[in-house]
Amino acid sequence: MTDLLKNPVFQDEAKAREWLEARVWPEGPTCPHCGNADEDKIRSLQGKAHRPGLYQCAECREQFTVTVKTVFERSKIPLSKWLAALFLMTASKKGISAHQAHRMLGISYKSTWFMMHRLREAMRSGGLEPLGGRGKDVEADETYFGKAEVLHVSPKRKGRPYTKRGKIFNNRPILALVERGGSVRSFHVAVADQATVCKIVRENVDSETKMHTDESKLYSKALMGVSRHRRVKHTAGEYVRGDVTTNTVESYFSVFKRGMRGTYQHCSEKHLHRYLAEFDFRHNNRIALGVNDTMRAENLAEGIVGKRLTYRRPDQA
Ligand SMILES: [Zn+2]
Repeated sequence: MTDLLKNPVFQDEAKAREWLEARVWPEGPTCPHCGNADEDKIRSLQGKAHRPGLYQCAECREQFTVTVKTVFERSKIPLSKWLAALFLMTASKKGISAHQAHRMLGISYKSTWFMMHRLREAMRSGGLEPLGGRGKDVEADETYFGKAEVLHVSPKRKGRPYTKRGKIFNNRPILALVERGGSVRSFHVAVADQATVCKIVRENVDSETKMHTDESKLYSKALMGVSRHRRVKHTAGEYVRGDVTTNTVESYFSVFKRGMRGTYQHCSEKHLHRYLAEFDFRHNNRIALGVNDTMRAENLAEGIVGKRLTYRRPDQA
């Protein structure tokens, strides 16, 4: 891991910029303001008067660099450090803590922490094709991780909180959808009720899919809108019946929980969805799908476009 950081891309700003340009613009520079990609209408601005890597678009007359409209935009941290953080996060099997990354990168803990959250944002896979399809199996399951910061009250219980075995139950629910031999998508939801869960399935899973769940009432075939739905009866000690099982999604949850406890320990509720994005990204770019460390870093670099975090902390990063 330490050797990895000896790559010139992580020392030299010009090399870092060239590496990123090759990922973001495989066909040559594209203006992020108007979308112009005509090489005759984009001029590289060189010389001492300009920042390195600056281009001028003849179509909209705006100037740009490769970091405009990406998670790296307007950051004071050198691009080479961003790329080093990106490689550290994508090469580690279980994730890397901000403390460890800060020591390896030689930049402040606060800046490292913020940079890593921006990179997690780049790992989010929004607006993709639905999971599953004809002849494909998708498993859905929910789990709970950590205590919710806001006490959720049940409308059906006249405003009283949810309880489990007589005690107040206020853990953070997570729903995950895993296609066998394919990708995972996980969600932190405020409350895991039937309407919320089925809506997420409807929006993220192809209707021709065969769905696998446990016997929980959260999963209604009609509300999920899938052609086939099979259940295993965990309460009766049944975990596998033929090909009906939720073992894939359960093993995803155990990787997530082990990783969170081992590496990240404290995770506030408002950031939980970003940690989920990181574990989803690692699962979706795994060796078994033919993705090696370099390809994983490249896939993340391609995901930085248009993922600028909406909140900013000017004192950090
Ligand atoms: Zn333009």
